[in-house]
Amino acid sequence: PDLFQAPDYYQADDLLTDEHKLVRDTAREWVKKNLSPIIEETAQNATFPTQLVSGLAEVGAFGSYIPEEYGGAGLDQISYGLIMQELERGDSGIRSTASVQSSLVMGPIFNYGTEAQRQKYLPKLASGEWMGSFGLTEPNHGSNPGGMETKFKDMGDHYLLNGAKMWISNAPICDVAVVWAKNEEGRIHGLIVERGMEGFSTPETHNKWSLRASITGELIFDNVKVPKENLLPNKSGLGAPLLCLDSARYGIAWGAIGAAMDCYDTALRYAKERTQFGKPIGQFQLQQKKLAEMITEITKAQLLTWRLGVLKNEGRATSAQISMAKRNNVEMALQIAREARQVLGAMGISGEYSIMRHSMNLESVITYEGTHDVHLLITGLDITGLNAFK
Ligand code: FAD
Repeated sequence: PDLFQAPDYYQADDLLTDEHKLVRDTAREWVKKNLSPIIEETAQNATFPTQLVSGLAEVGAFGSYIPEEYGGAGLDQISYGLIMQELERGDSGIRSTASVQSSLVMGPIFNYGTEAQRQKYLPKLASGEWMGSFGLTEPNHGSNPGGMETKFKDMGDHYLLNGAKMWISNAPICDVAVVWAKNEEGRIHGLIVERGMEGFSTPETHNKWSLRASITGELIFDNVKVPKENLLPNKSGLGAPLLCLDSARYGIAWGAIGAAMDCYDTALRYAKERTQFGKPIGQFQLQQKKLAEMITEITKAQLLTWRLGVLKNEGRATSAQISMAKRNNVEMALQIAREARQVLGAMGISGEYSIMRHSMNLESVITYEGTHDVHLLITGLDITGLNAFK
């Protein structure tokens, strides 16, 4: 059974509205009932649990903040964050699927798309009938996506798309992909590529030790004819995909708290139950230090991230503020996972507990959506005005 009890050391719950708490508790219960019982086996087998897709849609995980007229849940940014927190409490891979669908596929279609594109894609993505992927990273361009080689050419009545994306979440199961590519002038645009278009394939990436319950693959475009109406017309340039990443990174900042809470809660319970040398191990100072530092870091992250949510609701959160929270919280969660694993001794490496899975998952989370290093450089640029990327 999933015995999870969420830590809230500073009564941060008081900062939430009744709607926030309802949304969060609904997601929490759903995770306990539907995700926790199957996640270990799913991750061990490296399969994506397609049977969870409709439930994810029901808890508002797909397009949490997209207006209801397009099938979204119409919630605010804090509710979105809380849903991500609860999903990642279950598993970072499942949260990744939701982040991509919401912030990286529905987000750009809602923000940069035509009314016809919104009507065509958003309701089906919100219900999970269609799954989406987001293609930015390429074999030769990860941290530096502006160097991308994928390109499209205007052929008069359609565009011709060539290139390849790799490390793409949801790629092998996606029905639509939002793909970033350069036109003949070298300007980056978003194109909606649909499954079934000739020359479009999505081979799966195997042998991951991390995010095993999330499916990852390539997007390969071999002379794909993309209809002109599939270009996202309302924003172009590198800023277009980066703005989508802001929203996903914001969700990850919340999500990482979920993973950290699960590791802490597991380690705390274990430390009180496990006896060595005639005492519960939680009575030894060394174990108390680990647990006390964990709850301190979780509490700091909860307050930082709630404040970021308020700024985001007011439309004031900057990209640099989001970078700081993503970087801080993922590092915090990874450290907690490593320490919590030690508290459990040998049991810490077992699939009987969630900690090792969280730990391995977070190794991807600290790399994707801007690496730990890149986010530090974004903070560095923001406070000095000096650009380390150039
Ligand atoms: P690189 O950019 O090659 O970086 C390697 C190392 O060099 C890193 O430590 C980095 O911090 C460091 N480095 C790079 N530049 C600098 C610099 N200027 N200064 C100092 N250090 C630097 N991408 C998508 O587009 N869509 C997805 O859905 C998606 N899903 C993913 C799922 C998983 C499981 C993983 C692992 C990745 C996913 N990615 C996705 C890709 C991810 O965003 C990239 O891996 C990430 O941006 C880093 O790029 P890279 O792996 O090429 O590393």
